Amino acid sequence: MQYQSTRDSRLRVSASEAIVRGLAPQSGLFVPETFPQADLDAWKHLSYPELAQKMLAGFLTDYSADFLKQATEATYGSAFGGKAGRTVKVQDGLYSLELWHGPTCAFKDYALQLMPKLLVEAKHNLNRTETTRILVATSGDTGKAALAGYAGLEGIEISVFYPNAGTSEIQRLQMVTQTGENVQVYAVEGNFDDAQTGVKRVFADETVAAELEKRNIRLSSANSINWGRLAPQIVYYFYAYFRLAEQGAVAWGEPVDFCVPTGNFGDILAGYYAKQMGLPVGKLVCASNKNNVLTDFIRTGTYDARRTFYKTTSPSMDILISSNLERLLYHVSGSSEKVAAWMQELAQTGKYTVDVETLAKIQQNFAAGFAGDEEGAAEIRARFEQDRYLCDTHTAVAFRVAETCRSAAPMVVLSTASPFKFPRDVLAALGTQAPESDFAAMSALTEATGEEAPVSLRQLDKLPVRFTEVIAPDAIRAAALR
Ligand SMILES: *Cc1c(COP(=O)(O)O)cnc(C)c1O
Repeated sequence: MQYQSTRDSRLRVSASEAIVRGLAPQSGLFVPETFPQADLDAWKHLSYPELAQKMLAGFLTDYSADFLKQATEATYGSAFGGKAGRTVKVQDGLYSLELWHGPTCAFKDYALQLMPKLLVEAKHNLNRTETTRILVATSGDTGKAALAGYAGLEGIEISVFYPNAGTSEIQRLQMVTQTGENVQVYAVEGNFDDAQTGVKRVFADETVAAELEKRNIRLSSANSINWGRLAPQIVYYFYAYFRLAEQGAVAWGEPVDFCVPTGNFGDILAGYYAKQMGLPVGKLVCASNKNNVLTDFIRTGTYDARRTFYKTTSPSMDILISSNLERLLYHVSGSSEKVAAWMQELAQTGKYTVDVETLAKIQQNFAAGFAGDEEGAAEIRARFEQDRYLCDTHTAVAFRVAETCRSAAPMVVLSTASPFKFPRDVLAALGTQAPESDFAAMSALTEATGEEAPVSLRQLDKLPVRFTEVIAPDAIRAAALR
């Protein structure tokens, strides 16, 4: 299996190469040239680690079977407390795929607990001996999940850039208390797009690469633009489908719809990949918050980022430039020339419009909707009062949007974070006056709902803060060169 660039389809690299490089030249993204076909009957009874191994083997063809077996077992066994891919019934026909039972309580653990192992092995496969310096722009959850995945790994350094005042208190503390000699954490003035644009600019800057090369350091990315981030996310779509089939919630081979709280379009794109591999997926519903650039795009074919950026109670979805959409555009248009032109237009004018054939193919697979903070809050309350199901602010957006996009098929909402990561907003949604501190709010949330907060979150305020630096977006370059 080879990988192509979304901006130059003539390029061909191995999986190891795609993972080590992160980005293709001219800011292109690596995509698989074909989709390996799933053997649903053979896969349906596999454990989560076994399923991950089988699925990844089709994409990571230059990795040994032994390595994949050992890496998937080490990642998805005990680290997820036996709850990897847990799917909970909320109502008849409505399910929650709880993706937050990993070490940092967000779905990004699925990719970021495995990806570091994939990177170390890729360097080994390619006989590379340089130091890999990973730069991560994060709106909150990626940062901690990446730090937790990479901390202490040999031959790797990681620097995380998060928007100052753009994350929850808990998200920030999760990052700035991270241990490990090979980690750095910076707050960046501005919003997530400022941090992400700054990091992308460093990746595109050849003088940075040249300077680091003299020190035998090579830059890489842990953002969801890296193929090693995306591939592991395909697994849980299959796993959830098999669990629904097992319970008789869906007839074998009949479709299931998925509704995904979306920011950078990585999680939902993995669902599209699952469908391309033969999983019976009906609609993939793209749920956005008030930053609804994707809703408009999927409905009209015009992507227009020239709009107000809102800070919402679902900060991991506060995004105006949704990077992984580029991959979808490449798959449906089949043209790296078109994609390169659209992306250039976006960079220069802030918008682009796709052709009607491309839009039609997108609409065959995707539906879209959005919900504001108040609707999300009403949803948290409704799900708890009616169904005794407690969800976080991101998941709530998806539950709300899912209601407007139901078909005859069962609907699975991807639940992307523990409600205890955003305890103040969740409490307020339940109609309880939220205390100032996240930690008091966690206890109050337990009291109000009877749900236990994860231990890793409860103990955060007792850990020493290691990182306090706030930098301007322009200073990301200098930080990357340290
Ligand atoms: C990252 C994140 C999302 C968005 O996922 P994308 O892959 O960027 O679309 C949604 N919810 C939570 C809690 C997240 O951390």
